[in-house]
Amino acid sequence: MAEAPTTRPGYVNPQRQKVLRRVPWVDGGMDGQYVYILRCIRAGCGYEYGEEGIRVHQRRCPRCDDGAPGLPIPAEAPTLFT
Ligand SMILES: [Zn+2]
Repeated sequence: MAEAPTTRPGYVNPQRQKVLRRVPWVDGGMDGQYVYILRCIRAGCGYEYGEEGIRVHQRRCPRCDDGAPGLPIPAEAPTLFT
């Protein structure tokens, strides 16, 4: 399955939410959506949270931009930046 441009690491949506990476150990739901870790890059925030790929392009920050609560980031995150 090809990845959409809006879920590539480094993509920043119009609400200033940046895609950090996909969560590879979370299975897609019924609709096959992967979960991605997003980071708010609005000034003074930097909040990180999870979201399904299909919603990444329109996501607003849950902390500083009235977005819906994000999905939890699984605690057993493997180290991807070695
Ligand atoms: Zn924010």
